[in-house]
Amino acid sequence: MKIRIAGVIKESIVDGPGIRFVVFTQGCPFNCPGCHNTNTHDFLGGKLIDIKTIIEDIKRQKMLRGLTISGGEPLMQTEACLEIVKGVKPFLTDIIVYTGFTWEEICNQLPTNPQLTELLHQIDYLIEGRYLETERDLSLKYRGSRNQRIIDVAKTLEIGKIFIKDFD
Ligand code: SF4
Repeated sequence: MKIRIAGVIKESIVDGPGIRFVVFTQGCPFNCPGCHNTNTHDFLGGKLIDIKTIIEDIKRQKMLRGLTISGGEPLMQTEACLEIVKGVKPFLTDIIVYTGFTWEEICNQLPTNPQLTELLHQIDYLIEGRYLETERDLSLKYRGSRNQRIIDVAKTLEIGKIFIKDFD
């Protein structure tokens, strides 16, 4: 299977805690005003890459704490993201997925989207919601606007209501 990506960063310290491999997926439908990654919007842009290549690349990085999948909009390629996550999960401490969808929008999709359901059960944190310039706050960790939430996915699924993760 292949995934369309804008690029990767093999060792990032700004996309979540610790040293992380970051995959920037290509293609986003939201077009948030003020988005810093406009090069990732075009669904025909970036490049197609074999998922096995990404998984092997991640396994080669010995200093990693985790994987972050950003975008673009990762959930427009849920199946491919799921394959990557399943391939590297045993080697990493935690996995973060960014999405422009809100938690509530994602929950509405779950009854008809088993791959999305499985992805949520495989990852640790979801950083969700569109970027809103009116809510921009440079003091926030790992997100750009106050409406965006860092959700502890396992805990949220367990208790049935949103559980916010505080990395500060
Ligand atoms: S969801 Fe993210 S990548 Fe997509 S337009 Fe908004 S800020 Fe940019």
